[in-house]
Amino acid sequence: MKIHEYQAKEILRTFGVKTPKGVVIKNLTELNSVPEKLKSTKYVVKAQIHAGGRGKGGGVKIAKTTDELQTCAKQILGMNLVTHQTGPEGKIVRTLLIEEGLSIQKELYLAMITNRKSESFSLIASCEGGMEIEEVAHKSPEKIITENVGYYSELPMYAIRNIAYGLGLSQELMKPFTKLAQGIYKAFITLDCSLLEINPLIITSDNDLVALDAKVNFDNNGLVRHKELLELQDIHEEDPRELEAAKHGLSYISLDGNIGCMVNGAGLAMGTMDTIKLHGGSPANFLDVGGSATTEQVSKAFELILSDKKVKAILINIFGGIMKCDTIANGIIAAARTMHFQQPMVVRLDGTNADIAAGILEKSELKIITAKNMDEAAKKVVHAVQ
Ligand code: GDP
Ligand code: MN
Repeated sequence: MKIHEYQAKEILRTFGVKTPKGVVIKNLTELNSVPEKLKSTKYVVKAQIHAGGRGKGGGVKIAKTTDELQTCAKQILGMNLVTHQTGPEGKIVRTLLIEEGLSIQKELYLAMITNRKSESFSLIASCEGGMEIEEVAHKSPEKIITENVGYYSELPMYAIRNIAYGLGLSQELMKPFTKLAQGIYKAFITLDCSLLEINPLIITSDNDLVALDAKVNFDNNGLVRHKELLELQDIHEEDPRELEAAKHGLSYISLDGNIGCMVNGAGLAMGTMDTIKLHGGSPANFLDVGGSATTEQVSKAFELILSDKKVKAILINIFGGIMKCDTIANGIIAAARTMHFQQPMVVRLDGTNADIAAGILEKSELKIITAKNMDEAAKKVVHAVQ
């Protein structure tokens, strides 16, 4: 789950990480009270969307007077912000974070991730932080330092020293850096984050360390332990089909391709996507109806797939164990009765009650392309969209 920058900063503050003073507004009428609250000579107006690259896309602006603050806020609030992470359709800006403007001496980069390759956490840092970090990683990878750390109650001192040394921090900054790095580590492990990124982490002109930007993603599987975090979800930023699917107990993830897939079990779903790719196709989604879906759930799943305009063909690949194939067949028919669709549908049903399911589908007079196995099914559906 992703959250906004202002929410990430609120969390980080509780872990002792310094951030600029800021005010969140959703409406321009709230703007008048901002100068009084911030008491600053400079303001930074920041679009709150779940995507990076806002600075380059015109979603972060510096205002030197209250008049400029008005102008910048009017420009950004409500705009359709396009960045390299939003895709060409962009994102509507519904919330602004207005912060005191700080004087920057240097922009650094600091992030923490779970690293599957090293089977540990990794702290990643660079003395060349800021908006060009992707460029730095690409052109001068030696400027990115990585420190792998295990799961401890606190970030070990040796790791802090290694990173501080790699960043070339002065002795004077050691104390504030220790506090900040420990805060980040603690926040990450306490809240089951999957990513925590500060870019830029700045050294201010009066030699202090401040998190100027913050991005925090949570591991969805950890959210059961942190129910309070669920309140931070912004439904405007979520895929509406994924939200709808979750409401019905289905696992659905939108992808970029044009083949809608209905599968039972995450393993079979991944296998199905791989097989589609192998035959030159591209899945439009990952939909796992699970091991014990009802006819209603199957019908809902079918509806979700069809509501995606990118879907040019449908592949239903079910291996019935506990799940009965006739339940799937009845769900498909229930959905097909209420929805009209032209897309070709390839069906491969195997396992429990597969013959009953075949009989049900045959009687339904739905136009169905059947397949005996997964490979054949994938080939046929790829052929159908070509
Ligand atoms: P992003 O582009 O979405 O990552 O947004 P950031 O929050 O990182 O802001 C982009 C850039 O704006 C930063 O790298 C800074 O250079 C600049 N910026 C943000 N806040 C301030 C500030 O308080 N003072 C100054 N001088 N620059 C700022
Ligand atoms: Mn940033």
